[in-house]
Amino acid sequence: MIDGKTLRVAVIGAGPAGMYAVEHLLQEAEFRCEVDLYERLPTPYGLVRAGVAPDHPDKKRIGDRLFSYILESPRVRFIGNLEVGTHVRHAELADWYHAVIYSVGAGSDIRMGVPGEELSGCHAAREFVAWYNGHPDYSHLAFDLSCERAVVVGNGNVALDVARILTMPVAELEKTDIADYALQALRNSAIKEVVLLGRRGHFQGAFHNPELEELERLADVDIVIDSEDLPGENEVVLDDADWETRRKVKTLARLSRRPLTGAPRRIVLRFLTSPVELLGDQKVEQMLVVENHLERGDDGVLRARPTEKESLIDTGLVLRAIGYRGYPFPGLPFDDQRGVIDNRDGRVVEGDLPVPGVYVTGWIKRGPRGVIGSNKKCARDTVRCLLKDARDGHLSPAALNADQVLSELAGRNPALLGLEGWRNIDRGERLAGAHQGRPRIKYTDTETLLRSAAAPAG
Ligand SMILES: Cc1cc2nc3c(=O)[nH]c(=O)nc-3n(C[C@H](O)[C@H](O)[C@H](O)COP(=O)(O)OP(=O)(O)OC[C@H]3O[C@@H](n4cnc5c(N)ncnc54)[C@H](O)[C@@H]3O)c2cc1C
Repeated sequence: MIDGKTLRVAVIGAGPAGMYAVEHLLQEAEFRCEVDLYERLPTPYGLVRAGVAPDHPDKKRIGDRLFSYILESPRVRFIGNLEVGTHVRHAELADWYHAVIYSVGAGSDIRMGVPGEELSGCHAAREFVAWYNGHPDYSHLAFDLSCERAVVVGNGNVALDVARILTMPVAELEKTDIADYALQALRNSAIKEVVLLGRRGHFQGAFHNPELEELERLADVDIVIDSEDLPGENEVVLDDADWETRRKVKTLARLSRRPLTGAPRRIVLRFLTSPVELLGDQKVEQMLVVENHLERGDDGVLRARPTEKESLIDTGLVLRAIGYRGYPFPGLPFDDQRGVIDNRDGRVVEGDLPVPGVYVTGWIKRGPRGVIGSNKKCARDTVRCLLKDARDGHLSPAALNADQVLSELAGRNPALLGLEGWRNIDRGERLAGAHQGRPRIKYTDTETLLRSAAAPAG
């Protein structure tokens, strides 16, 4: 350690998990923590900016309300537009700092594994979400919204987000920070129906009740619950169903009894159905699906099993929303089954042995589950491990001081940016948004982001 009580820590990834980790480090009293927060994009806040749906402004504001003050601390340096693994290697960081915390999120997703998945018109919901949120790596993508029916495979909150964005009145989206090009594409969209396919039944949906209840408030959209065995709203439901499941099933039952209004668009929730194959000539035209039934295994878990009953759904757009997934990070052990950097309670492990001074938090630690707030406790647990290791003398000295690190990095990537750069981007986007009564108008390509970072908006 530099003076025995100063800890120099690199946090990799400025999403919620990284931000909370920095916050916990700053609150530490025994050691004086100095943090370099690395982010591959010119902008911080991870999925709060590039994942959370634009019609959830309260969640989006978490970046400004909760995280921006963390970046203002004189003990934190934001190092944006710098990708760890590309511009700097893990082994170098491990040498330069007392400790490194990886909070790089889950940058990939699970595939359906059915024939025809490669056809044009079939995408990951992850890409669609990143596209409408203006993520610079995805802003060049094009989604064909000229068909009348889209199918979203999956039964979680991301599937619901995507269904809402595809069907809600564009006038509502015009008040948000959705990317301008996405707004234009949605204005021209021909989509009238979005079908959500759930592999299992309505009791097993992965969505949360508040997200389901949002469907009740969606203007000009009919909701169709395609399930024959929904109980009445006040009927006693399965004995072993927990409180959250009962709430969800009640909401589904309420939705299913709402009379259809002949609204211009509709969302259909179809349960116990799985994709079998995507059919089409070059482009998706139909999806072959199979009905499932539920079978309880010896372990007590209900699993979907296909029946003989197959049918076709006409569609030109398929979005798979069956789970995000982390990918291996160069130089770090990876648990391929769980899609996370191999760790025990946040300490990175190789086999059974901890890799000294290397930690993880957030989705790359525990898998792609949980809301923004879940990452707070996750980060606290990780930081506690780190501090214990510091106390127990398990951390190696930091080879470079703060100035040496920065000059090394600047030599490798002259376009890296600091807090002032992000502030300029933020100010510019908000100013542009204010003219249109929107929270911000996002810059959606790296060139524009870097140009605005260099020039204070005024
Ligand atoms: C579509 C979607 C909608 C959601 N909506 C909500 C919601 O409404 N409410 C809610 O509470 N939760 C929501 N969540 C969950 C919430 O976004 C996650 O819990 C949270 O973002 C996970 O945080 P994280 O920091 O682990 O990952 P991320 O948010 O993904 O952050 C990871 C960061 O690491 C950076 N990074 C990656 N690789 C590198 C590298 N090599 N070098 C440097 N930086 C790197 C990334 O650019 C990113 O900024 C949503 C999630 C998704 C996917």
